[in-house]
Amino acid sequence: MWRHAELLPIDVPDGIATAAGDTPLIRSRRLDEVAGCRVYVKDEGENPTGSYKDRGSAVAVPQAIQQGTDVVGTVSYGNMALSTAAHAASLGCECVVLVPADISPGRLELIAQYGPTILRVEGDYSKLYDEALQLTRDLPISFLLSDAPGRISGYKTALFEIYDSLYPEIPDAIALPASSGGFASGVWRGILDLQHAGVIDSPPRLYLIQTAASDPITRAYTADQDEVSALAPDAVGETIAHSIGNPDPPSGTRALTAVGETGGAVCSVTDDEIRDATRQFAQRGGFCVEPASATPLAGVRHLTRRGEIDEDETVVLLPTGTGFKELGTGTASIQTETVSRTALSSRLESLLSS
Ligand SMILES: *Cc1c(COP(=O)(O)O)cnc(C)c1O
Repeated sequence: MWRHAELLPIDVPDGIATAAGDTPLIRSRRLDEVAGCRVYVKDEGENPTGSYKDRGSAVAVPQAIQQGTDVVGTVSYGNMALSTAAHAASLGCECVVLVPADISPGRLELIAQYGPTILRVEGDYSKLYDEALQLTRDLPISFLLSDAPGRISGYKTALFEIYDSLYPEIPDAIALPASSGGFASGVWRGILDLQHAGVIDSPPRLYLIQTAASDPITRAYTADQDEVSALAPDAVGETIAHSIGNPDPPSGTRALTAVGETGGAVCSVTDDEIRDATRQFAQRGGFCVEPASATPLAGVRHLTRRGEIDEDETVVLLPTGTGFKELGTGTASIQTETVSRTALSSRLESLLSS
């Protein structure tokens, strides 16, 4: 991602930050039929800690250190926590991760491998966002949350790379999941930079996909509102897409504006659609993506059916994180058969002839 250092607010840092970004863009013809258009996949799961969050941490963590911080922190028990802790570790900076008291052992193990101080915080976890901002003002610690300016500028490099890789072709649309709206804000920032530099005339349409279990940005879009309002607790459900579903997204309104300015749309998908899209990504694309990251495929399928995207249009799907961290939960139903060594050859013969 540091090919674009001149458009970033800091010089090239040391350590794992140099491995962030530069993810592959893959033409995935076998997904065209599912999506209903020409599909490219920008696989953000190939970042050092397995998600696009590394683009943001690669800028925000060294920037905070340059500004004099000795300790960085974050409020997350998912990809943001892993990424912040890894980037801090690689620069020898202390890191404090605030997690909910009832965090699962598996999540804890993933975060703990990078050696941050992990504090389980009791009470309403969703209120911690504002409290962490206040703690940053009061104490010598920098909480780097989803909309930290350094993170947003790191995220825009995903957009630059899409244009680099596709050149001389250009994308008609880009589809990504949205939760806090941070990644969407970064991608839009990248579009504005390219327009400002005269590299592109018209922007690609931004399509943001949410989980139907918690979709404040979709609701604002559908109701034709200019601002995203927080969902009431009784309007929020459970979802397998655990990396998304923020009921009060800090960058929601900015993400909604990006959609309006680029002529895109916001839509929501159900857990069943997410499960199916995860399977299609793997079985037609060869991609292992986490449920939140399968939403762009599920969403684009809706949008092509609705006629918002044409079948000859080029659409870049942004699966935001790897599914490798998800596996081993034993919930999948898998068909297998056991075969003896002596019967193997004849079993294969009958399979191959059927
Ligand atoms: C954080 C995250 C998202 C949501 O991104 P926002 O910037 O919060 O909108 C989507 N997918 C994955 C895998 C994530 O880790």
